[in-house]
Amino acid sequence: MTLELACDACDATARASYRCECGESLWVETDPHGFDWNSTVDAPGVWRYAALLPDSSPGGVADAAGGTPLVRTRGLDEYAGVRVHVKDEGENPTGSFKDRGSALGVARALSSGTETVGTVSHGNMAMSTAAHAASAGLDCVVLVPDDIPPERLGVIAQYGPTVLRVEGDYGRLYEESLRLGEERGVAFLNSDAPLRVEGQKTTALEICEVFAPDAPDAIVAPVSSGGHASAIWKAVRELAAAGAIARVPRLYFAQAAACAPIADAFEAGAEGVEPVDAGKTVAYSIANADPPSGRRALAAARETGGAVAAVTDEEIVTAKERFAREAGFCVETSSATTLAAARKLSEVGELADDEDVVLVATGSGFKEARTGADASTDAATVGLEDLGGRLATL
Ligand SMILES: *Cc1c(COP(=O)(O)O)cnc(C)c1O
Ligand SMILES: [Zn+2]
Repeated sequence: MTLELACDACDATARASYRCECGESLWVETDPHGFDWNSTVDAPGVWRYAALLPDSSPGGVADAAGGTPLVRTRGLDEYAGVRVHVKDEGENPTGSFKDRGSALGVARALSSGTETVGTVSHGNMAMSTAAHAASAGLDCVVLVPDDIPPERLGVIAQYGPTVLRVEGDYGRLYEESLRLGEERGVAFLNSDAPLRVEGQKTTALEICEVFAPDAPDAIVAPVSSGGHASAIWKAVRELAAAGAIARVPRLYFAQAAACAPIADAFEAGAEGVEPVDAGKTVAYSIANADPPSGRRALAAARETGGAVAAVTDEEIVTAKERFAREAGFCVETSSATTLAAARKLSEVGELADDEDVVLVATGSGFKEARTGADASTDAATVGLEDLGGRLATL
């Protein structure tokens, strides 16, 4: 089966390529008509939404992708200024929502007879792609920058992919890998690859199913390449087209102020997203200075009545601490931008305290190197004989 791909920017259609001739990334044409919440199937994780997905499960770790909990977290309401629900993507097999997209991408590679998948990433996407390839018995090539820290290389390498450190302009590799992959028969599952987007739609499908037949007032997610943002948008568009949700939630996206090309474009009311010179940020896994699906993330926020917000490193570190101390969640630093953004947005009246707002905690904080948020521990030492007295003073 050949997939029909479409461009939402210029209405072109295509069959093979990742990119439209207009320069935008393509997405899969899906026909959501006839979908309702009774059309879900009794299958694990993302495969529950078979009716809206272009492939079926290859089994293995793909069956562990998705199906994550949505948790009502009253402890964060006051700080965020809304009724907070946390979508806990840290529960995925490699600790981030990337597993949803990897599951579909690898399923597609198997069903189309491709033997090697690849990705350009030095973080969650690399880990996830390598894990899913390993489970499916596919070869996997991961392209990383040549200055990658050894501890990050280790977590990727455990799944046994071929890791190549690439010298030169890492920013150019996104496009180059797509071109070379088509030439050499490697299916590159980059951040906004059409199949990855299809799998990542299920984050929003799961959220909306919990609220059905109503919908949450808003969803807040961190944005980097724009792949997850476009997937969330595509999902709510499909649900609305099928009549499965009464209203479309407002979509808000969060960036770190040090690298905020999409938030800048939103603020300026610009049509497209211009690349920026990125500064350093604690939210390194969302620091994409030239996001390939930036225009689409911008459109998603605008067309649903949402916004794109930038938050400072200080706000991010505080939010990460709040997640842990007020709600018991160890989220990745990049995911903490959602709470910081919700607070900011409710302060300016974009979000209201009687609204149900879903913060997408995109990744687990457990595999992160130490950041400002967890670096300070304040532990006193006490002798065993003094412990009783000390406990009485708590
Ligand atoms: C990849 C990633 C993001 C950003 O997603 P994009 O699709 O690139 O916008 C956010 N949070 C975490 C934890 C990620 O791994
Ligand atoms: Zn186009």
